[in-house]
Amino acid sequence: MKKIKNIAIIGAGTAGLATAILFARQGIHVSLFEKVDCLQPVGAGLLLQPAGLAVFEHLGILQDTLKLGAMVTGLQGRLANQRLLVNSHYHEVNPQHYGIGIHRATLCHLLSSKLADYAANVTWKMSHEIHYLKENNDGVNIFGQHQQHMFEDNFDAVIVANGARSHLRPNAWVKVDKPYPWGAVWRIVPECQDFDPQILHQFYDRSQIMMGILPTGAIPQAPNQRLSSVFWSLPSHQLQQFLDHPLQHEWLLQQVSSRWKPVADWLEQTIHQDENLPWLSAQYRDVVMSKFGQGRIGVIGDAAHAMSPQLGQGANMALLDAWALGQAMQQFPDQQVDWTMFWQHYHQLRYSSTQFYQFLSRLLTPLYQSNSSWTGSFRDFSFYWMYQIPYLRKQMALTISGLKISSLSQMNYAKIAQSDHQSAIFSQNLS
Ligand SMILES: Cc1cc2nc3c(=O)[nH]c(=O)nc-3n(C[C@H](O)[C@H](O)[C@H](O)COP(=O)(O)OP(=O)(O)OC[C@H]3O[C@@H](n4cnc5c(N)ncnc54)[C@H](O)[C@@H]3O)c2cc1C
Repeated sequence: MKKIKNIAIIGAGTAGLATAILFARQGIHVSLFEKVDCLQPVGAGLLLQPAGLAVFEHLGILQDTLKLGAMVTGLQGRLANQRLLVNSHYHEVNPQHYGIGIHRATLCHLLSSKLADYAANVTWKMSHEIHYLKENNDGVNIFGQHQQHMFEDNFDAVIVANGARSHLRPNAWVKVDKPYPWGAVWRIVPECQDFDPQILHQFYDRSQIMMGILPTGAIPQAPNQRLSSVFWSLPSHQLQQFLDHPLQHEWLLQQVSSRWKPVADWLEQTIHQDENLPWLSAQYRDVVMSKFGQGRIGVIGDAAHAMSPQLGQGANMALLDAWALGQAMQQFPDQQVDWTMFWQHYHQLRYSSTQFYQFLSRLLTPLYQSNSSWTGSFRDFSFYWMYQIPYLRKQMALTISGLKISSLSQMNYAKIAQSDHQSAIFSQNLS
């Protein structure tokens, strides 16, 4: 077996950057291909769950994340009749656990700064869009475009991490790949102090109306200006109409005001403080694959398992994928990789958990986003009873934490968070 020299990672999002760190720090050279000219991540804030934070601890960036991000202790979801339907707190799983609301620019800054520590093992290929891949006996050829020029290159292996709309995932592995019928409009606002700033607040009415306020902390360029993200759920075909017509923004305020007056008052005041900040839209996809890697090609992050963000797991799963790749690679300290064993190890760490969250996401999302007349009432009734049972309350918090492997088993935060040296021993015991 030949020693691997160079691995290509396609896409410098959450999954690609975290994988690059974990490979580069094991002494493997990575080439990171990214289609945009420079990393200027726009996008709503997101919630890093304990599972994602365990990977951050493993990467050595948790303390810096705490400085810029916003600590979140739980999730509360209120109905239009003011009853608290969802009331989940991380301490129900473990008193030490919490989440961190983070702006996407901060997430990208933290990961790329850490990657700079291993600069000697990293080749950045910005403004390189990959069009297709071809595996051969001892490597993978990649074909793409850089500033009007077509190029071809060869690598020992390729990790596809180019997001939900990936056209690089092998077709034969794809079981489902379709746009989700609902999306959301969102907007960055100054941090919401009117309601507990350590809680992700959600508001629901039937399954047609849903709003969220997520504290996201600051961005690196303005560390003293704390921010929140506001989300408003809409069917995909209405997103553009909302963005194009300012009257729709007034309609949103009316909808909120007739149900949750204090929230509408805060939102109206906030929006008027800075009318130039735009509303933007986000659309989701459902992607289900039969496997995530074979031979010298692997697929991770949203490219492998995009789903609706209802459970707030996408970035966490992308981070866990990167961690699992790092663990699988640790089995081969001499860098002579047996790819069959590599993917066996990877699937052992990631397949069940990914299946669990994708199943749950497809089950639960219509309870919050659909035109059905009964799903909302069913949710309100069943969640009420579920929260009366302590075991189910804990399972709910555990699920949101991102640590579930199946309905009866869970990952161990400490094992994910431990250093490379400690986890090398864990990997050897697993194999
Ligand atoms: C509104 C919204 C809210 C969300 N909230 C949460 C949350 O609270 N918690 C959570 O965990 N997750 C959340 N998510 C999901 C999360 O954002 C994603 O799951 C996560 O960002 C996926 O990371 P990724 O690296 O797989 O893909 P991406 O971040 O999409 O990165 C893919 C990268 O690949 C590049 N690329 C694409 N094609 C090519 C190509 N052909 N060649 C080279 N480069 C290419 C892109 O430019 C991009 O930089 C949310 C998503 C949305 C839309």
